[in-house]
Amino acid sequence: MGFFDPYKGFGVTFSTMFKKPTTEQYPEQKKETAPRFHGRHQLNRHPDGLEKCVGCELCAWACPADAIYVEGADNTETERYSPGERYGRVYQINYLRCILCGLCIEACPTRALTMSNDYELADDNRRDLIFTKEQLLAPLAAGMEAPPHPMRLGSSETDYYVRDPDAPLPWQVTDEQRAAAGGSDAGSERPR
Ligand code: SF4
Ligand code: SF4
Repeated sequence: MGFFDPYKGFGVTFSTMFKKPTTEQYPEQKKETAPRFHGRHQLNRHPDGLEKCVGCELCAWACPADAIYVEGADNTETERYSPGERYGRVYQINYLRCILCGLCIEACPTRALTMSNDYELADDNRRDLIFTKEQLLAPLAAGMEAPPHPMRLGSSETDYYVRDPDAPLPWQVTDEQRAAAGGSDAGSERPR
């Protein structure tokens, strides 16, 4: 250690005394996060309200903290939650374990799982930090219908997964446009 090193250390302390203190007024004033901040997860829906999650468990296998629990089940024609064969019947994320690394959303093949910018994940008991599927599911947007219900975007999974996201939805196409395209009325029923 050099002769002046202690004085350099005191110099840092001394100069800090004259800096303006940084005080966060949380929770009254919430700070905006970066757009790609990894916050609370969300389970997304298709434009008709069906769930994008197909219960494949790839997110759970990818998670290094073992924070995700998924149980898949079969859709039936009378009770359909997603366009595919299977859907996520049980879906839980344990925020006591999650380190918000984002590996689960990278693993998801259907973009069912994404992360929001919500960082308020503190609580005073362990049970409330295990989020259920109902808590994680995206709210129903305009034009969506709560599952279970039939597939409204078409008769096959391709109508859901291989479509132009900017193309009009089947119920937004007018009869004239449909006739001009030589199409049928299949999948044109509007969600209630
Ligand atoms: S963000 Fe990381 S730790 Fe959290 S559930 Fe996803 S993979 Fe697991
Ligand atoms: S969120 Fe994605 S990866 Fe996880 S079970 Fe559902 S479809 Fe599979």
